[in-house]
Amino acid sequence: MAKTKEPDLMDKLVSLCKRRGFIFQSSEIYGGLNALWDYGPMGVELKRNIKDIWWEAMTQLRDDIEGVDAAIVMHPKVWEASGHVQNFTDPLVDCKKCKQRFRADQVEGKKCPNCGGELTEARLFNLMFKTFLGPVEDQASIAYLRPETAQGIYVNFLNVLGPSRQKIPFGIAQIGKAFRNEISPGNFIFRSREFEQMEMQFFIHPKEDSKWLEYWRDERFKWYINLGVKKENLKLHQHDNKELAHYAKMAYDIEYNFPFGWKEIEGIHNRTNFDLTQHSQFSGKDLTYFDDATKERFIPYIIETSAGVDRSMLVFLVDAYHEEEVKGEKRVSLKLSPKIAPVKVAVLPLVNRDNMPEVATKIFHDLKKHFKCFYDDGGAIGRRYRRQDEIGTPYALTVDSQTLQDDTVTLRDRDSMEQIRVNTSQLVDVIKKKLG
Ligand code: ATP
Repeated sequence: MAKTKEPDLMDKLVSLCKRRGFIFQSSEIYGGLNALWDYGPMGVELKRNIKDIWWEAMTQLRDDIEGVDAAIVMHPKVWEASGHVQNFTDPLVDCKKCKQRFRADQVEGKKCPNCGGELTEARLFNLMFKTFLGPVEDQASIAYLRPETAQGIYVNFLNVLGPSRQKIPFGIAQIGKAFRNEISPGNFIFRSREFEQMEMQFFIHPKEDSKWLEYWRDERFKWYINLGVKKENLKLHQHDNKELAHYAKMAYDIEYNFPFGWKEIEGIHNRTNFDLTQHSQFSGKDLTYFDDATKERFIPYIIETSAGVDRSMLVFLVDAYHEEEVKGEKRVSLKLSPKIAPVKVAVLPLVNRDNMPEVATKIFHDLKKHFKCFYDDGGAIGRRYRRQDEIGTPYALTVDSQTLQDDTVTLRDRDSMEQIRVNTSQLVDVIKKKLG
């Protein structure tokens, strides 16, 4: 059976994520909190792998990008300069009858989608979470939880430029939490109120903006494909004039074909010199760049790549979810790229006797120095394979009676379910090669 795209795929995925320890609702024992999620043992590994691979691609493998990790709470003036205090709003309507709230642009007609009641006039609602710095809760101490990580990069432009001795064109990357008090969150971790972003801001000469926008659009598109996302489920959407944000000259979204429709997963924007100009004006600091070679002074343009960690994770999960019939039974597996799979190798003694657990434990302790491994001796072998399939483990290694005679184990491939015999002395090399 091909990958399911039926409407209940999301329900199946949410249930698998709970059952297998990927994602739980926040504060569940208290009844849960809407649009906030906790990541369990498998979820945290998957998320970490996604972030590590992004970080490697965007910093380690590049000579022209540096990393930062800025504070979540920034000077309140940052958000005035960025336009967020003024513009980071959604139009909100309330139902006069059932009191539920909706984003005005997502409601068709003038009636409440929930109960058919009358709706209030739309008013603007700022999505930034407010807090107070210090013990006095007054107007002067208001601060915000950052709604995007990008501003932490712009305000550190000079701080990074100096010590890194980079020259334009160069970029600054950051991964971190962002917070938005979304009016209509939903679709599992697609839109939540606390999430993580992986953002990179590339500082360039204004004349080179088209070239770099296209370059980063193509690089970022390839990133998803290289991690196994099916090409037919990805597309680019270019913003028309109505969609462009106030800071953008040209923008593309990378969109994914979710069970709930084609939706943005990453934005690639030409932000012009808007950000550095604004921060120069609001801070009074000169954020121009002097090019030694051409003796030119200018405010750099910025090409931004802005991806959501949680949203990418949902892409990888949806794209990997697979059901098929095997010997009259339904087999569910996550065909995750081995690069991001939470566990790379499961180590399983066939039965819990005849010295098999001891041999398997020794193999487990040897292998875990090289790969994230999982030891499981509980229950029938078929059920243990199914558990590994559901968390996307690419290889399951089984110690059986033959192991005790010739030092070989079986290595089962998650996708083909084929098994080969491998000598224990070769395991690390063979698995390394298979993982790529
Ligand atoms: P949307 O139109 O879906 O609200 P946006 O255009 O506001 O998204 P950006 O501000 O461009 O999004 O944010 C960049 C990326 O951050 C998005 O592509 C997405 O991956 C992620 N992101 C934004 N908001 C959320 C959220 N509420 N929950 C999870 N991820 C988010």
